[in-house]
Amino acid sequence: MSLQKSLAIVLQVKDHGDSDKIVTLYTLEHGKIALIAKGAKRSKKRFVNKLELFSLLAIYFAPSRHSSLMRLDQADLLNPFPRLRENYELYIAASLFCELVLHWTREHDSDEELFRLLVWALECLVMEGVVVKRAVIFFHIKMLDILGYRPDLTGCLDCRILGVSGFLYRFSPLRNGLVCSRCEPQAMANSQLLSIQTIQLLRRAQDIEQGKLERLHFSLAATGEAIALLKRYDNHLLQREVQSWNFLG
Ligand SMILES: [Zn+2]
Repeated sequence: MSLQKSLAIVLQVKDHGDSDKIVTLYTLEHGKIALIAKGAKRSKKRFVNKLELFSLLAIYFAPSRHSSLMRLDQADLLNPFPRLRENYELYIAASLFCELVLHWTREHDSDEELFRLLVWALECLVMEGVVVKRAVIFFHIKMLDILGYRPDLTGCLDCRILGVSGFLYRFSPLRNGLVCSRCEPQAMANSQLLSIQTIQLLRRAQDIEQGKLERLHFSLAATGEAIALLKRYDNHLLQREVQSWNFLG
């Protein structure tokens, strides 16, 4: 059976039986796939230091004749991103990226743009002077765009207005957009409100290119509001909690 080749990022690794591991990867050519790495637990030689979270690999795999799980035949380590395992904050952010891709994508649904965004985001984390939470917000906003879940932040969904003094805004995950205090006064009391500055920053993040990330300056308050929004949006659309958010601090 001929082997297939792909570039891949390791999203998840689990032990399987006494000697095998199951790795879930996000690949360039095949999207998210789970592969069985035979003997990876027992004989360290073949996959030594390769099947680690976040690693960028060139993989060779074959469909299994006996089960639906495909077999990982070989993996070449292209970038292990060691710094992501040495620093707690970077580790949590990288875990969040991988967990988001794990939950937001379906198997065998490839998306080159998302693969390149994930690799870019991991590279961004290991750069000198990275602002971790800004990278997290930016990655998430771009991921939503690529997946077709771009939040509508152009104005209140009902009156289309944004920025009138005295109006308060909240994000409705159900309606995928903003609602103002004039249109829904009763909904504001128990909601996480968004300042106009946060809304405008998120809109800029939607529109600027990856290379211009440093042009975004999220204040502490805007960072908190943006992260609360994205976390609630994940919970609502995925119908599950994304664990790494809880460790981001
Ligand atoms: Zn309104």
